[in-house]
Amino acid sequence: MHVHAHPDDESSKGAASTARYVTEGVEVTVVTCTGGERGSILNPKMDRPDVLANMSEIRRQEMERARDILGVRQEWLGFVDSGWPDGDPKPPLPEGCFGLVPTEEAAEPLVRLIRELRPHVLTTYDERGGYPHPDHIKCHEISVAAFEAAGDPERYPDAGEPWQPLKLYYHHSFNRPRMQALHDAVLAHGLESPWAERLENWEREPEWDARITTKVACGDYFGVRDQALLAHATQIDPDGFWFAIPREIQVDVWPTEDYELVVSHVASQIPEDDLFAGILDPA
Ligand SMILES: [Zn+2]
Repeated sequence: MHVHAHPDDESSKGAASTARYVTEGVEVTVVTCTGGERGSILNPKMDRPDVLANMSEIRRQEMERARDILGVRQEWLGFVDSGWPDGDPKPPLPEGCFGLVPTEEAAEPLVRLIRELRPHVLTTYDERGGYPHPDHIKCHEISVAAFEAAGDPERYPDAGEPWQPLKLYYHHSFNRPRMQALHDAVLAHGLESPWAERLENWEREPEWDARITTKVACGDYFGVRDQALLAHATQIDPDGFWFAIPREIQVDVWPTEDYELVVSHVASQIPEDDLFAGILDPA
């Protein structure tokens, strides 16, 4: 079970490993916390008044396409997008948005889904949210809270029979070493790198990078990932940075998606190459 903040996050984080697991017969559910109602249009070709006026419905349709491409089940938690707070100082979050719902309350529908679908593995964002969108931080908070509460009969007694997922992971694919490796390879091929400026401003944090425990090989599924990304036409510019690095170079240089094992109720050898290590093949 992947818990994500907005429609499109499931395609930009962990999508290739998802496609691989689905192919191998794993039942994967994507849980989407909000409808992405306050997302901006990030693809100039879709920046039209008729699109902006129907953002909720269009993003719902985009999510359905991505869901079918990835071969997952998808569930909405039904919270309202907080939007990206633009400005310095940041403006207050809009009333009623996901970011303002108390974590204890916002975790309840997720606990209910975990107890209903009984996943063995749960993934979410790290405590920084992967990037500091208030919905990503809240997504992290409710995922950790629900992972801890779902197996406890004393917690949320009206939300179904207790079920304890065995492993909790954070996504770590946007790590600096990966970006540096891709950047170097692109330059070596005589191409322009989309990451030059980003890398220059990205402080080195070896301790943060060392938190990666698990690298899932999924280069064969980068094409599926790209199709799923493109399904989110309002959010993903087909001529933008997502596709600026030729896929062959990505497969060659960094053919994995990377995760951090945060909690485990089974024994597994670190480093791992499989989110199900210790579950399918007892260590
Ligand atoms: Zn998001």
